[in-house]
Amino acid sequence: MNLKILWMYHDLMDLYGDKGNAEVLKRRAAKRGIDVILDTCTIGEEKNIADYDLFFMGGGADREQNLIYKDLLSRKDAIREAMDQKTAFLLICGGYQLFGKYYKDQDGQMIESLGFFDYYTEASDRDHRCIGNIAVETTIDGETFRAVGFENHGGQTKDVSTPFAKVLNGHGNMYQSPYEGFMNDTVLATYMHGPLLPKNPKIADALIRRALKKRYGEVTLEPLDDTLENRAREVMLERLHAL
Ligand code: GLN
Repeated sequence: MNLKILWMYHDLMDLYGDKGNAEVLKRRAAKRGIDVILDTCTIGEEKNIADYDLFFMGGGADREQNLIYKDLLSRKDAIREAMDQKTAFLLICGGYQLFGKYYKDQDGQMIESLGFFDYYTEASDRDHRCIGNIAVETTIDGETFRAVGFENHGGQTKDVSTPFAKVLNGHGNMYQSPYEGFMNDTVLATYMHGPLLPKNPKIADALIRRALKKRYGEVTLEPLDDTLENRAREVMLERLHAL
């Protein structure tokens, strides 16, 4: 069994250690004896996106989003094909925003986005930037649990039909919003950096299962010893009065 991951714009969209997400996916799969092919793809590079089981894109400041969005739009048909074939998606912050209708940045400039989903994002004034640690409760593929991360975004994301999680402490999609991120059967999009997966092993495993499902159907992953990961998560949940 193998797992093919495509990490988009690894050299530009990588805020607050988002690269750690790729590392965690790789290690947790390898511990189950699953071979991992981790490829990167940046501006102008040719890759057949639908060949991969998991598409991962990290966050970026307005500057990086401005640099990559035209290249991303040029891949719209290929990304749609990958979605139609049930590829799993992990999109963080700036990556999350660029899958909606548009992102209007801090300078008021419109960054056209892929428009796969109805949500859209507009930068707040500087007094309402969403910054800090965040605790949420989510239900992924039938299992409910709490997760932690770190957010830093001006973007206020509106009209999210199916959020990823409920906010317990922090901001989420908008300043003091009750909801965080976007999720459907194959796409998980969130403002949570930190990076997301090292402290939230259940999310990592859910993504691995979703990605393997594309070619292998439902797979049961053997449990790993997550004592340290869970301790790290609990320390933050405690600090955020969300344990
Ligand atoms: N530039 C975007 C914003 O400020 C995304 C930032 C990020 O990826 N952390 O909303």
